[in-house]
Amino acid sequence: MEKRQELYAGKAKSVYTTDDPDLLVLQFRDDTSAFDGKKKEALARKGLVNNVFNAFIMERLEDAGIPTHFEKRLSSTESLVKKMEMIPVECVVRNIAAGGLVKRLGVEEGMTLTPPTFELFLKNDEKGDPMINESLAETFGWAKPEQLAKMKDLTFKVNHVLKQLFTEGGMLLVDYKLEFGIFNGQIVLGDEFSPDGCRLWDANTREKMDKDRFRQGLGGVIEAYEEVGRRIGINFPA
Ligand code: 5GP
Repeated sequence: MEKRQELYAGKAKSVYTTDDPDLLVLQFRDDTSAFDGKKKEALARKGLVNNVFNAFIMERLEDAGIPTHFEKRLSSTESLVKKMEMIPVECVVRNIAAGGLVKRLGVEEGMTLTPPTFELFLKNDEKGDPMINESLAETFGWAKPEQLAKMKDLTFKVNHVLKQLFTEGGMLLVDYKLEFGIFNGQIVLGDEFSPDGCRLWDANTREKMDKDRFRQGLGGVIEAYEEVGRRIGINFPA
């Protein structure tokens, strides 16, 4: 497999074509951004930590029967993935109230959500990733109803697998965002799963161990990501 030209540079990852039209290389960079790109900083080791973290999680999800775009990790900061047609809809599950939900509804941060909630957002930085619903997604052609049903089902399957994994590591999976695409007509999990796109709290102290440390300027961002990884059995390269 040969890495060819850059196809696209996102806020934290760059995507490259390969000599196989069905495969892409994801390069995880140290760049970190929040608030739709308004806050930006390069954090040493972030590319490596998120690449290794994501590979570990994607493999666990595949083992649990969840189809993902992940093929294999190529290097400390690169992974090989299937080339999909991306669906511009972000799926968010929340087990505990935090972030946008607290801001929008004024509910208490930390309250357990029973049953967990499911929300859809349009992937569009310029518009600030606005909240949408199934009807809007269908009308504007962002996703078909049967695709949304599958995405919802898979997003909750991920919750089942990862809640258990993080609980065993003494952490709470507060919420997370997933993105999906279509490969050979099938809905497949794409993008990445790392502490950049989820909230994780220490189960005892409720200390934040995720990207909120960056958003809120708490420091120790990558140290916290590595601690999360170590607690679920990841050995990060030096
Ligand atoms: P909230 O709606 O509370 O801002 O986000 C809910 C969850 O989804 C959080 O775990 C957050 O990290 C994740 N999330 C939502 N939108 C984005 C996004 O555009 N980028 C990233 N990295 N994570 C997101």
